[in-house]
Amino acid sequence: VPELPDVEIFRRFLERHAVGRVLSRVSIHDRRALRGMPESLFRRAAGKRVVSTRRHGKHLFAHLPGAGWLVFHFGMTGSLERFEGVAPREPALVAVLHFAEGGGIAFLDPRKFGRFGLVDDPDDYVSDRSLGVDALAMDRVHFDALVSARRGSLKALLMDQGAVAGIGNLYADEILFQAGLHPLTPAASLGPERRAGLFGVIRRVLRAGIDHGALSSRLPRHYLLRHRDDNGLCPRCGSPLRRIQAAGRTTVFCPRDQRGVRRRASSASKRGSPRRGSASGSTVRKGRIHPLRSS
Ligand SMILES: [Zn+2]
Repeated sequence: VPELPDVEIFRRFLERHAVGRVLSRVSIHDRRALRGMPESLFRRAAGKRVVSTRRHGKHLFAHLPGAGWLVFHFGMTGSLERFEGVAPREPALVAVLHFAEGGGIAFLDPRKFGRFGLVDDPDDYVSDRSLGVDALAMDRVHFDALVSARRGSLKALLMDQGAVAGIGNLYADEILFQAGLHPLTPAASLGPERRAGLFGVIRRVLRAGIDHGALSSRLPRHYLLRHRDDNGLCPRCGSPLRRIQAAGRTTVFCPRDQRGVRRRASSASKRGSPRRGSASGSTVRKGRIHPLRSS
């Protein structure tokens, strides 16, 4: 499932293979991806040059001055592929950018949950869809405010595209694993130090994903992403990884390394944050505070 690192890899791919080229046309092969946008709109793209790209969370944009911006969302299985000569004909094909000089880029999506469109302004598109700030463009102050005001778990917060755009199920689990935080930890229970630590881990994990081509098999061995699919053991302590449902998704974590945050009654009540299981020896309360790990 393409998340921020994957989409950043696609952005770089377009940057290398499409920017600077003139399109002879854009052909649509599966109208469902347009979500009601008229196919005729794409006639505007003919003869226009791709001059730049942009990414916001899991959305990718390509600027064609005079026509607008192409927008891609990769759904569950979307990808881009370059071709020489004639475009591939296959059921997964959603749209094709044909270069005037021949060849082009195919947008493929076997499961067809992706989207494709042509919009006037990426900023308007992002605000119309109520997307939150991009996870890598976000600053500390913004993140602090999001976390401390949040009702609900860290896992739900990280995956909420309206709060932070770009993180999906897999990278949310990785981030919480690397931060040593239980996925169900109430977001508002994090103190300033843990918030700062989590902010740093988000950046570090997403950048690692990008640096390794968004391929989990290339990530360092201590990454959860390399172990979560095979009834895996925690790469840190060897415990069997545990699966639970959190924020409606299968969530993998290490029950030994990822604990809740011990609530500090004074600061929690000052902020008026929601309390959960605070009275009698809940696991959250007993949980020892792990230092953030920087390995
Ligand atoms: Zn562990």
